[in-house]
Amino acid sequence: MGLRNLSNKRFELKKYSAVSLSHKLIDKNIFPIINIDKSFENVLNYQIKSLKPDKLLIREPIYDNEIKILNKIENSFKSLEIVKIPLQSLINHKEFIESYGFPETFSKFRKIVEKNNLILNPIDTKKNFIDFKVRSNLNKEYERIVDIEKFSIKDFINYLKKHVKSYKETRDQIHGQNISSQLSVPLSLGILSPRRIVKLINEYEKNVLSNQSTYWLKFELLWREYFKLLGFYHGSRIFNPKGISQNENVIQHPEVYDWSKLEFKDDLVFSINEQLVKTGYITNRARQIFASYFINNLKLSWLSGARYFKSYLMDYDTETNYGNWMYIAGVGTDPRGGRVFNLEKQKNVYDPNMEYRKKWQI
Ligand SMILES: Cc1cc2nc3c(=O)[nH]c(=O)nc-3n(C[C@H](O)[C@H](O)[C@H](O)COP(=O)(O)OP(=O)(O)OC[C@H]3O[C@@H](n4cnc5c(N)ncnc54)[C@H](O)[C@@H]3O)c2cc1C
Repeated sequence: MGLRNLSNKRFELKKYSAVSLSHKLIDKNIFPIINIDKSFENVLNYQIKSLKPDKLLIREPIYDNEIKILNKIENSFKSLEIVKIPLQSLINHKEFIESYGFPETFSKFRKIVEKNNLILNPIDTKKNFIDFKVRSNLNKEYERIVDIEKFSIKDFINYLKKHVKSYKETRDQIHGQNISSQLSVPLSLGILSPRRIVKLINEYEKNVLSNQSTYWLKFELLWREYFKLLGFYHGSRIFNPKGISQNENVIQHPEVYDWSKLEFKDDLVFSINEQLVKTGYITNRARQIFASYFINNLKLSWLSGARYFKSYLMDYDTETNYGNWMYIAGVGTDPRGGRVFNLEKQKNVYDPNMEYRKKWQI
């Protein structure tokens, strides 16, 4: 695991998820090794030296630092066979790029996926694990670990049954109970498959209710997928001050190296920051307002903003985070070239009675 610059809460959550996942594998007679280190390179080196495997199966690296680490491993362990497996999420990214190229806008991407029915089926893990004998005498200490995947699916099914019907109307609010699916944490931890989520929504549409809201949840999951494809296609350019933009005249604001120097004088942004720092979660609307303020009012580098989110978000996800920051900064895929949010208007529309601001300004 490479866990640099994450908040303590997120670090603990990642550790817990890894243990929860290994618990499930132990059940299938597979004994995973969890090695937590700040450096992924150290972990790989150590494990290869101690286990001496013939073959290493690894997710295909897409970013420069990952490619560099794998090149070093290849050079240090010449006889090791390295199999790079492309990341597949809702769709097969490699095949998509080969067939359609990278769509410059989300809209084009969505239309291609929907028209060609490109969303993959979930992997049938039961079938794949059929050869493994189930162990009966599980170590006692594991019995207390919650099956976090099962827990998240149960939670989501509950959301489908009770709240999804109004998702399109509620998802854009700045605060409130059950206004959105809360899928981002389990998705970002890799403990819940987006394909399984889409399958559950499709089944719900077929058997219970199909409306604009059920469609919109899939629409948002496609946004996530689009940013995953963007990371796959553009690689480390997403960490570039100019993002993936071809525009040479992009304004580059100064970087922030010391978070304690950040000052949020606006009462709405102050509240958003309070919620972010205290809970590790803010809604999509709050993220947009914060990002616009950071870039357009404070005139600071969007990259610093993205790193700031990385250090606090419980659902931090590289492509979704950098993709959204680039979009608002106008160095990504937004055909309109960036977003500026008028703070007074945002307050009037999303917090007219100051409920949200009062809650977080104590
Ligand atoms: C500046 C900025 C930074 C962000 N950083 C992250 C991040 O690090 N991790 C993260 O998971 N999301 C990020 N988002 C996207 C979005 O805000 C969160 O996914 C969402 O608020 C999480 O709550 P939810 O799961 O209840 O969302 P829902 O509205 O229920 O959406 C369901 C799922 O769709 C996807 N989704 C929703 N909105 C977006 C979006 N704008 N872009 C891409 N995918 C989306 C997410 O996977 C989400 O879990 C960011 C958005 C902005 C504007």
